Amino acid sequence: MIKIAFFDTKDYDTEFFEEYNKNYNYEITYFESKLNAETAQLAKGFDAVCIFVNDVVDKTVLEKLNEYGIKLIALRCAGFNNVDLENLGNIKVVRVPQYSPYAVAEHATALLLNINRKIYKSYQRVKKYNFSLDGLLGFDLHNKTIGVVGTGRIGKAFIEIMKGFGTKIIAYDLFKDEKASQELGFEYVEFDELCQKSDIISLHCPLTPETTHIINKNSLSEMKPNVIIINCSRGNLICTDDLIDALSTGKIGGVGLDVYENESDFFLKDMSNSYERDKNLSLLISMPNVLITSHQAFFTSEALNKIASDTCQNIADIFASGTCINEVK
Ligand code: NAD
Repeated sequence: MIKIAFFDTKDYDTEFFEEYNKNYNYEITYFESKLNAETAQLAKGFDAVCIFVNDVVDKTVLEKLNEYGIKLIALRCAGFNNVDLENLGNIKVVRVPQYSPYAVAEHATALLLNINRKIYKSYQRVKKYNFSLDGLLGFDLHNKTIGVVGTGRIGKAFIEIMKGFGTKIIAYDLFKDEKASQELGFEYVEFDELCQKSDIISLHCPLTPETTHIINKNSLSEMKPNVIIINCSRGNLICTDDLIDALSTGKIGGVGLDVYENESDFFLKDMSNSYERDKNLSLLISMPNVLITSHQAFFTSEALNKIASDTCQNIADIFASGTCINEVK
């Protein structure tokens, strides 16, 4: 029987994986801890580890996993920036490249609408029986220019939604999808131009050395006054210090973040009774035009079903044949 050490477990993971595991009979041990250098020893005696977005699989962790004879790292997410692919040794890596682009694209839309129309403010107000409209002024999305960075599965799903609002879409991607550009009706531009022309910028590219801090002092300075920035991709795409500086000048209209640079110690956990705080995160939360969700964009039942079913199948493929269509190389 294949033994799997399952890290960073939440109740919903157990619920969905136990259901699909009825067809595979893996021996799964669920750990609440994230996988990192301190917890790697928990993987001793297992065949595979199953991890999520904030587990850290660096060189040190990989040395330990190789020493314990781990054969597979099964990512139950699309991004793989948290795994050091240069130092895998004998270990293979699989991921779930597509579980629901709609889940993330719809969440990006929810953040955008919420920020623009100040729904988060009116919700709090109405709870207090305050029905005033002061400070709630938004703008029509219709005819506005949306800049989409990364036109992969999620970027394209987001473009389709935005088209429904009657917006003009410009996009930046290292690898242009000309067919999609024609079919969905959007235009590719250089990143600088996207920053200069967009009323709203939504990030849907992966975190790589090239995209790390793609939103920084320079790109922020190019943007239009009152731009809205949405990040449902990875926290490190934005230099938080530079974003806070730009927010403090009043230049930015609004920011919707589902991810944050130093999210791993905070997101997906109840920290409300802890005294541990992150200064930049606290600053962002306190800003009147910033809305943060806790890496929630993927969180729909459709996505969780697909993550569990594909992860179980990825593991089966690797142990049966040594290969898998979802292997990360
Ligand atoms: P995808 O691989 O289908 O698309 C990514 C796109 O980014 C591709 O078109 C690629 O060419 C482009 N790209 C790569 N390098 C680039 C660069 N340097 N500059 C501009 N574009 C570049 O991936 P996807 O399924 O659309 O997911 C996109 C990202 O969304 C993932 O990498 C992940 O980080 C993030 N994500 C977040 C959540 C969440 O819950 N918040 C869930 C799933 C995925």
